[in-house]
Amino acid sequence: MYLLKKIKNKLQLNYKKKKWPGLINAYKQHLPVSSKTPIISLKEGNTPLIFSQSISDLIGNDTKVYLKYDGLNPTGSFKDRGMTMAISKAKELGSKAVICASTGNTSAAAAAYASRGGLKSYVLIPDGYVAQGKLAQALIYGAEIISIKGNFDKALEIVRDLSEKYPITLVNSVNPYRIQGQKTAAFEIVDDLGFAPDWLCIPMGNAGNISAYWLGFKEYSKIKKNLNLPIMMGFQAAGSAPLVKNIIVKDPETIATAIRIGNPVNRDKAKVVRKESKGDFQSVTDEDIIEAYKKLAKEGIFCEPASAASVAGLIKNKNRIKKRSNIVCVLTGNGLKDPDCAIKNNDAVFQNNIEPSLREITKILGY
Ligand SMILES: *Cc1c(COP(=O)(O)O)cnc(C)c1O
Repeated sequence: MYLLKKIKNKLQLNYKKKKWPGLINAYKQHLPVSSKTPIISLKEGNTPLIFSQSISDLIGNDTKVYLKYDGLNPTGSFKDRGMTMAISKAKELGSKAVICASTGNTSAAAAAYASRGGLKSYVLIPDGYVAQGKLAQALIYGAEIISIKGNFDKALEIVRDLSEKYPITLVNSVNPYRIQGQKTAAFEIVDDLGFAPDWLCIPMGNAGNISAYWLGFKEYSKIKKNLNLPIMMGFQAAGSAPLVKNIIVKDPETIATAIRIGNPVNRDKAKVVRKESKGDFQSVTDEDIIEAYKKLAKEGIFCEPASAASVAGLIKNKNRIKKRSNIVCVLTGNGLKDPDCAIKNNDAVFQNNIEPSLREITKILGY
């Protein structure tokens, strides 16, 4: 029995290397699915874990910093990990429509997976605070979009109410299947490194993802001998830091719109993660976030501002890190989601209105 399982696992790993089947198929034995579950997948997951020389050098002390680039999922954020599960289960249970409140990425993922599964999707977004790329996605993937004169927290309150009264499945991170799908990112990190990192740095909005990672590490430690568990470091934007301050923030403000959340639904779960992992929750300013955002781009990695909070937070803790640590920073979303932010915050040399002559351009190049 044991040997059979071992061979099966090995086959599955080889399969993963050759042809990725999507995260539900890859990690089936760890997920609440059966042969009856219709798997709605866009081959999400299997995102690269990239070593960062420049951030490692910046931290020093022989630290190795890796970036889990989850912005390379099909719709450009980690939300796809949760959505493949949430939509597959909704379809299995006979649901015809899904609904979510979103700062943008959840709506993009919900719209894409719902359309792929033949379900209707409704999304509530806060007026004026959704990045361009995300809005474009919700529009083109075919969601019905309701933009409200209120923030994310208000939108969530309404969709929770609606999903209780009507036959519409809620696909925010209160949906337990979301967390199940998202925990696979922790599996992938361990599969890649061969061990768990000493620290995991992650941005927090509703704090579903930090809870999912912790669940993933804990589950893997039960089946993999001698697996250490990471210290979980959660970071919020200074103007939107309800978990750091242990309050409800009425009017959250930050350039990192994906984590502009004043009343996180997974607050209690997140506190347990902090306690169990001996971790910490801290805030970073928008200036810290933009600095980290630019640093990452200079090494070829373009993430959205919320994602850069994980690296900004790590940099802040430079003096607390033990020698020869292995650290993973989660880059939750792709930089192309929020082109305005890059256009407004960069150190590029951009000369326009130039005459199209060889002489003029040679002069500009300095030759
Ligand atoms: C949703 C999101 C977050 C926050 O994740 P939570 O699970 O709400 O804590 C962070 N970054 C990006 C890019 C996101 O889309």
